[in-house]
Amino acid sequence: MTAGRDPMDILAKCPRCDAGLPVRAAEAPGAIKCGRCGHEIPLDVSELLRADSAVDRCPVCAGGDFYRRKDFDPKVGLAVVITGAAISAGFYWFGLDLVAYGILGAAALIDLVVYGRLKEITVCYRCHSEFRGAYPRTAPPFDLHTADVLEQEYERRIGRR
Ligand SMILES: [Zn+2]
Ligand SMILES: [Zn+2]
Repeated sequence: MTAGRDPMDILAKCPRCDAGLPVRAAEAPGAIKCGRCGHEIPLDVSELLRADSAVDRCPVCAGGDFYRRKDFDPKVGLAVVITGAAISAGFYWFGLDLVAYGILGAAALIDLVVYGRLKEITVCYRCHSEFRGAYPRTAPPFDLHTADVLEQEYERRIGRR
C-alpha cells in the first residue's frame, strides 16, 4: 500500500436484508456474517480490489456492472428533495407552475453546490455495494434502464421476487 492513500473500503450489502456491512478490501475475509439478520455472505474480493487499483468485480454478487455517484449522506439528499417537493406542491396547488419549476431548479442547484465538492464512489448495479478508495473512477454515471434490468436479474437470482 502506498503511503498517503486510504485503503479501499467496501460497504457490502446483505442480499437478504440490505444492511450495509463495512469491510476493508485489503483484509477482507472469505465470508462475513450480517450483523442484522445473521445471513452468511461469501466475499470474493478480486486482486484489483485488494490493491485498490480498480473496481472490476463485485465481491458480493460477482457482477461486473457499476456506476459512480457522489458520496453524499442519503438523509441530507432526501431532506433536500422532500423540502423542494413540498414547496413545489404548494405552488402547484395555486397554479403557479413557473414558480414551482423555479424552485425545483433551485433545489437541483443546491444539490450541485452541496454535492459538487464531494468525492465520487463506485456502486454495484445489482446489490448496491459501495466502493470507496483511491482507485481511478472508470464506471459510467447512473443509468436507470441498466439499473432496472440488472436489479431485477439479481433479485430473481437471490429469490427476492
Ligand atoms: Zn442481513
Ligand atoms: Zn454487487
